[in-house]
Amino acid sequence: MIKLVDLDKQYEKIKKEINEKITEVLNSKQFIKGKYLKEFEDSFAEAIGDKYCTGCSNGTSALFTSLKALDIKEGDEVITVPNTFIATAEAICHVNAVPVFADINEKTYNIDIDNIEKHITKRTRAIIPVHLYGNPLDMNKLMEIAKIYKLKVIEDCAQSHLASINGKFTGTFGDINAFSFFPGKNLGAYGDAGAIITNSQVLYEKTKMLVDHGRKDKYIHEMIGYNNRMDALQAAVLTVKLKHLKEWTQMRIKNAETYNKYLKDNPKIIIPCTEPGFIHVYHLYVVRLPSRDKVMNKLKENGIECSIHYPVPLHLQPALRFLKYKQNDFPICEKISAEIISLPMYPELTEDEIKFVCDIINNEVI
Ligand SMILES: *Cc1c(COP(=O)(O)O)cnc(C)c1O
Repeated sequence: MIKLVDLDKQYEKIKKEINEKITEVLNSKQFIKGKYLKEFEDSFAEAIGDKYCTGCSNGTSALFTSLKALDIKEGDEVITVPNTFIATAEAICHVNAVPVFADINEKTYNIDIDNIEKHITKRTRAIIPVHLYGNPLDMNKLMEIAKIYKLKVIEDCAQSHLASINGKFTGTFGDINAFSFFPGKNLGAYGDAGAIITNSQVLYEKTKMLVDHGRKDKYIHEMIGYNNRMDALQAAVLTVKLKHLKEWTQMRIKNAETYNKYLKDNPKIIIPCTEPGFIHVYHLYVVRLPSRDKVMNKLKENGIECSIHYPVPLHLQPALRFLKYKQNDFPICEKISAEIISLPMYPELTEDEIKFVCDIINNEVI
């Protein structure tokens, strides 16, 4: 049995460190805010290379809080992609703004930057690019467009911890940027958690207030806020895991290279695209191939988990029907969503396991 994501092996390796740290938090009783949250926020900001970090309850609230901090509201439009987790669009809806989708690039599966301008209107306020599967979008090019049209940029880095562009990590280009630490993400908590990263002190202070009932002082509430804090136990877990993130990321990249080695000579399989100078961190290893259902069944018969990220694009989701999109509105996204498979990917996968998966696929795709 090979799982899509296997969290057991990682926990076995770091069990002692994690359990000690959790015990420390339990003994301290500092469950909300306090030193464990600060320790993580400081170390995460430093690891990514931004000045400030605000811990959040999850990645969705990190996106929502970022939009709130930028004062994006009813009547505003925010451009993003239809091939992402629903949270990206939900956060836009939560501030009563309108998600406007733009089609994706056929090779990178990220937003097609050349296709953004035609979606910009008088109401457009921001862009939320998603570094899908851990593959960084060309942020320098995106920021040029944002600058011309005076748009704010929120990077959705939920899948791209330590992905980089010419040595600069994702989460350091946009005005304010959101991360998820959902357990299966490249840096995962043992529960829900997320974070906002920014270089702006004004935005940082606003997000800190927004996630904590709009307060700076304990009993003075400057604005109507929310309870969207990261709790101390998750922060403590993440502090321990952050120390291993570089190594785990290298292991993911090595595993992707092993997959590539076994799949690249099959002309019917499209392996992930990487661009020179860009570091893809393979939150997911996604290939495109014909007769997907047949291949998925064969993998399942052999005890191999696989999945589709994402089978139904957001513009065709029932929850977003009110946006009045229809089939064929985003032909590249729709075409790709019918051809992709996510194969098992986590740092501890072995070469034998990867070869086993690839042999099955190569036998089916001829
Ligand atoms: C996981 C994810 C989110 C949401 O994060 P949660 O922590 O689950 O709320 C947002 N955007 C993308 C692209 C994601 O993959």
